[in-house]
Amino acid sequence: MSTVAGDKVSGASEVGRSLHDFVTELYPLCRSITGDGVRETLRLIQRRIPLTMCEVPSGTQVFDWTVPLEWNVKDAWIKDKDGRRIADFKVNNLHLMSYSTPIQRRMRLDELRPHLFSLPDHPEWIPYRTSYYQENWGFCLPHKDLERLVEEEYDVLIDSSLQPGALTYGECYLPGQTSDEVLVSTHICHPSLCNDNLSGIAVAVMLAQALALRPRRYSYRVVFIPGTIGSITWLAKNEDVIPHIKHGLVLTGIGDEGGITYKRSRQGQAEIDRAMVHILKHSGDAHALIDFFPYGYDERQYCSPGFNLPVGCLMRTPHGEYPEYHSSADNLDFVKPESLAHSYTRCIELFDLLECNRTYHNQNPKCEPQLGRRGLYRAIAGQQDKQFKELVLLWVLNLSDGQHTVLDIAERADVPFHRVHAAVEALLNVGLLKECGSQITSDVRRT
Ligand code: ZN
Repeated sequence: MSTVAGDKVSGASEVGRSLHDFVTELYPLCRSITGDGVRETLRLIQRRIPLTMCEVPSGTQVFDWTVPLEWNVKDAWIKDKDGRRIADFKVNNLHLMSYSTPIQRRMRLDELRPHLFSLPDHPEWIPYRTSYYQENWGFCLPHKDLERLVEEEYDVLIDSSLQPGALTYGECYLPGQTSDEVLVSTHICHPSLCNDNLSGIAVAVMLAQALALRPRRYSYRVVFIPGTIGSITWLAKNEDVIPHIKHGLVLTGIGDEGGITYKRSRQGQAEIDRAMVHILKHSGDAHALIDFFPYGYDERQYCSPGFNLPVGCLMRTPHGEYPEYHSSADNLDFVKPESLAHSYTRCIELFDLLECNRTYHNQNPKCEPQLGRRGLYRAIAGQQDKQFKELVLLWVLNLSDGQHTVLDIAERADVPFHRVHAAVEALLNVGLLKECGSQITSDVRRT
């Protein structure tokens, strides 16, 4: 493997633009936990990567939950007595509370008022509201518009349907040399909101594109699912896959200008946790690390005690810690091409590390081998400090006893992984190291 050293994303601005373009393409669709907006989103993803779409019928029991009725909307608005539209689903789908039941009626403001939601602290923004599991209807509007409403009659129309249908999710499986898997999961249930979570969708798609083109030790499974009910449904339908998952990452809110936040898996010191912490530590980026807690995104389900999978969560500013969260201000301007590209790059570095994190045996374990006559120093390009290079080589030789992975060595030596990996390659080239056989199994699986 030589994917680590120097495999930086070339043309980050081009990557960022491409990610932002995909966010822009997905932005207008009305997504929810079910319905045609989700299917259309998956179809747009399917144009870019091989994606299997799965439909799970309403009423299906998934652990303690039941797949809900499918929700679709044709139109929704409120009109005042002059026919002026106060809130119009076709102008912005956030105007309609997700899973609103159908209604067509004239009513007075006092009857309408309990069904209206706004953000008094941000009077220009439309809030995002849902009512999945309690039948209700509602409209969301800027507080400044709500304040202007007068005591009169309003016509209210919600042309929606809530009927037996299906919950739809998508899955991209990329087989590798082994059936051990890396799971990437991202939620697809939010309507016109960009950071939460078109950012996660766009980055996951580009990661799948990149992974599809390279040699893979691991198999990769990228799943695009509605939040909570989607991961519960996916876990219920895929219990046979679970034992193969060795590492997992939930991607959410990775396009805003804030620094990266990594939330550890429930295990806390899983390989993916250590890998991400190592990458962030040596990146020079401002970043935050948070321990697992049973709230947030789909890591809650993957890390429930019955699964306890090594699944962490990558985000930038955590949800709820930025005012634009769950409002119309989480728009195309709020997500930045540079942030999207930066998040993507860190994920690629993570996969590179996992792919290259193997265990070796020093072939000359009795005292140090003579390095100089093997020309090893020159073999590692781009490192200027001779003593430092020598020290990294010596760390690798010393800890390559079949018990330490490359990440173990990088942590112990406090050296970036790619430098240790470069030393490993150099030592492999002169026959001083041999990979431990147990790392590669022959159970290659193709599905
Ligand atoms: Zn959200």
